[in-house]
Amino acid sequence: MIENKAKSISPDISSEELSYFLDDFRQAILSWRKTRLNLQLQIQFPNLHSPLYEGLESVKGLDFQEWLLEPPPEALLSHKLYRRVLMDQHNLIRHAREAVEASGKGGLSASQFALFLHSIFVFEQAADALVFGIATSLRDIDKLTGLPNRSAMERDLVRECAQAKRLKNSFTLAMIDVDHFKRVNDRYGHDFGDHVLEELADCFIENIRPRDQVYRYGGEEFLLLLPDTPIAKAVAVLERLRRKVQALTFRDPSLTVTVSLGATESTGKEEPREAIRRADKALYKAKRTGRNRLELE
Ligand code: GH3
Ligand code: MG
Ligand code: MG
Repeated sequence: MIENKAKSISPDISSEELSYFLDDFRQAILSWRKTRLNLQLQIQFPNLHSPLYEGLESVKGLDFQEWLLEPPPEALLSHKLYRRVLMDQHNLIRHAREAVEASGKGGLSASQFALFLHSIFVFEQAADALVFGIATSLRDIDKLTGLPNRSAMERDLVRECAQAKRLKNSFTLAMIDVDHFKRVNDRYGHDFGDHVLEELADCFIENIRPRDQVYRYGGEEFLLLLPDTPIAKAVAVLERLRRKVQALTFRDPSLTVTVSLGATESTGKEEPREAIRRADKALYKAKRTGRNRLELE
């Protein structure tokens, strides 16, 4: 599988898997909350005979994994946000068990109860961080290509400008647009057009350096960010990309897809949109002067 360069929570998990897990986890946490309230009631009123709780058994219900419909994606298990949730859950279950036992014997201290409440708080914070991390990651990923999207790019570009200014280096920004893409859609249908965009995304990822990042800017436009790369150095990377695209083969051997590229260098001492505007201008020049070419601005 091609490495997904999206700034996702884990590069090995697809958006589908992540969003499925997110729904499942949120549901599990709802059941978890019910258990937690029952336990609080039980700990505070150990002699209360209520069908709401079933003694120590309910401590097990504090394990959210018991409530998941499916096991989490394999690659998520080693993620630090997920490991944090497991660790905090482990502490919570230990404190809950101690509190339930002490309470059953009539010897629960205020500090023990406070510890139990505190570990609930810590666990919920970790669970929120995981939900937030996954949701952010999903928001930043383009569903069709798996690439980070335009809003992710805008954030990264602000950071890249700051970085370039601080380190006194420059980066290259390249706008890439598929040539005559409308014809591809018209001739082969929209689904095939989608397939071409996916193939292009994979081709870009395979042919850029590890620190470079490609985004789906919109429609059939992509943006490439080459950190710490003056334009003179970027040209070779971009020219190679252009040739790689041209060499792609599709089910119809007579189909050749090409891209036009417009690139610009920035030292970060400008508004990010200024760099984008120049890259756009260069792209326009590449289109006007015959397509399937790179122009600089
Ligand atoms: P040019 O060389 O001047 O860029 O020509 P073009 O046909 O690529 O440019 P134009 O802007 O006229 O058309 C872009 C086309 O890209 C039209 C639009 O339907 C198509 N497109 C945009 N997003 C998607 C998508 O997600 N999937 C598919 N299949 N087509 C898309
Ligand atoms: Mg376009
Ligand atoms: Mg186009």
